[in-house]
Amino acid sequence: MLQNGDKNNRKEPVNARVFQKVDQSVKRRLIFLLTVFLCAFAAIGLRIAHIQFIEGNSLSQNASNNQRRNVDISPKRGSILDRNGGELAVNTVVETVSINPDILRASISGIKNLNLDFFAEDIAYLLSLDADAVFEKINKDTKYEVLKRKIEPETADSIKEYIEMYSLRGLALETDTKRFYRNNNLAAHVIGFTTEDNQGLTGVEYAMEKYLKGTPGMIMGELDARRAEVPLKAESRVAVRDGLNAVLTIDSAIQLFAASALEKAIADNDVRRGGVVIVMDPRNADILALVSKPDFNLNDPYGPPSGYIEETWNGRTQAATDILNKTVWRNKAIMDTFEPGSTFKPFTIAAGLEEGVISMESQFRCEPLTGYYDTDLNCWTRVGHGTQDLAHAMMNSCNPALMRISQRVGRSNFYAYMKDFGFYERTGINLPGESQGIFQRSPRDIDMLVASFGQRFTITPLELITAYSAIANGGNLLKPRLVRELRDDAGNVVTRFEPEVIRKVISKETCDLLCEMLEGVVNEGTGKNAYVGGYRVAGKTGTSQTTEEDRYIASFCAFAPADNPVACVFVMLDDPRGDSHMGGAIAAPVAQKLMEEVLTYLEVERIYNERDLKEQVKQAIIPDLLGKPVEEAVRQLNDLGIEYKLQSGITDTRLPVAAQTPPALTRVSAKPTVALYVEADAERVMTRAPDFMNRTAFDAGELAKRAGINIRTSGSGVAKGQNVPAGEDIEAGSVIDVSFRYTDNIE
Ligand SMILES: [Zn+2]
Repeated sequence: MLQNGDKNNRKEPVNARVFQKVDQSVKRRLIFLLTVFLCAFAAIGLRIAHIQFIEGNSLSQNASNNQRRNVDISPKRGSILDRNGGELAVNTVVETVSINPDILRASISGIKNLNLDFFAEDIAYLLSLDADAVFEKINKDTKYEVLKRKIEPETADSIKEYIEMYSLRGLALETDTKRFYRNNNLAAHVIGFTTEDNQGLTGVEYAMEKYLKGTPGMIMGELDARRAEVPLKAESRVAVRDGLNAVLTIDSAIQLFAASALEKAIADNDVRRGGVVIVMDPRNADILALVSKPDFNLNDPYGPPSGYIEETWNGRTQAATDILNKTVWRNKAIMDTFEPGSTFKPFTIAAGLEEGVISMESQFRCEPLTGYYDTDLNCWTRVGHGTQDLAHAMMNSCNPALMRISQRVGRSNFYAYMKDFGFYERTGINLPGESQGIFQRSPRDIDMLVASFGQRFTITPLELITAYSAIANGGNLLKPRLVRELRDDAGNVVTRFEPEVIRKVISKETCDLLCEMLEGVVNEGTGKNAYVGGYRVAGKTGTSQTTEEDRYIASFCAFAPADNPVACVFVMLDDPRGDSHMGGAIAAPVAQKLMEEVLTYLEVERIYNERDLKEQVKQAIIPDLLGKPVEEAVRQLNDLGIEYKLQSGITDTRLPVAAQTPPALTRVSAKPTVALYVEADAERVMTRAPDFMNRTAFDAGELAKRAGINIRTSGSGVAKGQNVPAGEDIEAGSVIDVSFRYTDNIE
């Protein structure tokens, strides 16, 4: 096998040969290699795992394919873009190193101080390959051999320099592509990822494979033998057709709002099994955001999920892939089914209204149903709701009212509506692995009674928000749209996927009544933690038990504005272990913040009602006092009813204010305090952060005033969070964010 040089010499590493007596030209070669060594070390180090685990397969495959005469030209895979054209998945150029052994051997034989052994060693070193394997390839009786695919740019540069240094022929770099995901974890379950051969494996990458992949071209027959030398004739090629670019309905900004909101909720509420947030435009069922947690980095999908250690993790084993499939790769929004609980109640009421068996005037007594079961069927709260009209039954989420409505609708009718709302079928979203609702095969009356308030059957989050969108849009069940269009590289639309109405489920009149009632749930019912000043939010809370003890699912589904909905939001937290597991307590505030962000981003105008205006009066804006004499600043603050603290030791109140805390135009809740200084670097007046937890807004304001600090409040009810811990030393006049939540009559 050895042709030039002896075996021992070839086996010695590159740096050992440095110390041998060599002539100038060889020295030059070694210096070059050392330089390259330094540059390439980091890249090569990073590549070792990659080569072992990922490229092992494709390398052995190449070995078996090496006799083929035709050479494929891979098409460029289409990009995946968000609805505004923002890049989500793109291709980066990588290079493949190939040789024509005939030409290479001839070329090397004409170069002084280079032989096949040295060449094999050098190249093996540069590409982190086995020298024997390279040596074997260059001695093959073929015209084309791939040495290594998808090398990093630094490595490609080293190969280019090597070719130049010796004016080598028969060693070439070919351009190839590798997938790159711009935003790492963002929308990971939606976008999906590909195999090393650029084949879609999950998400849109998989679902849209046939459009994204394109059609390979080919260089025919003998031409490939001399491809490095002879210019190719047009007729000996099959033209390559690049893949189309898929434009999604996802809006990256909304996706980011949703992902951040869910991340925070999971941390705040000690949520053990992750969660889901979906944002849908109910008018066309466009998915604006879809988040499932836990998630993963699309640029490193086989990386260790949390709880596994990098050093001992090998994501490419079957056992590891099973773990990834069950955890971070799992898209809970479409694969998990859960008992919807109270978020389901509007559909029971929809059936009752549509069938004409109830009206807004109907009265319902909150009393248990007996005789169906070994125990009475009670309301969710033992307090009881007395006698209520329909709107209050919805607001109170009263189970006996729901059961009575389902009785009037009748069993077969009831389940017919559930089918019409799409709970028995997959939504048909363009993603692999979707589940569908699970119902009893032949439900009995008792099953229907329990189903009327959302128990004993399971549906997916996507089925639920799609059915809510039907209520929000006037009664049409639509197919969720995730891919809006396919475009070519010039930006021309090749295919457009129009919104698809599956069926009309209920009338516009019924929808209008439901929207009004669901707005009542948020304004004064169990969903009041989702209230957003200036926006009319309609929504329903849900808390469901699972088959596992103590594992609850808190959820909330909402849309807004109630009179003309443009956004529907669904939030689900799986297994919260914080101070509450109730949907109204922990999922509604997430929906509230997210809804406000989404509507503001969509530039939906705020229309303040009396309640909102009253809330605003409780706010103050800090005036600009810089440069004013202290005595004048103090007079102004007194007029505004604002407290103040002065730099210690001020004797001359005619001196101008040099610094103030908080700065001018800061918006704080009522009872503000401002600290004033006549020297910009004066020692600050200090105080201590009070403990606001479980206080009302009024009490919190009093505490803040006493401490000489400001608060900025969000939400209503009692304080459940503060961004500066109680007891911490802070400057007088500082602003502490305090969040409030309703905790009573919250389901
Ligand atoms: Zn009740």
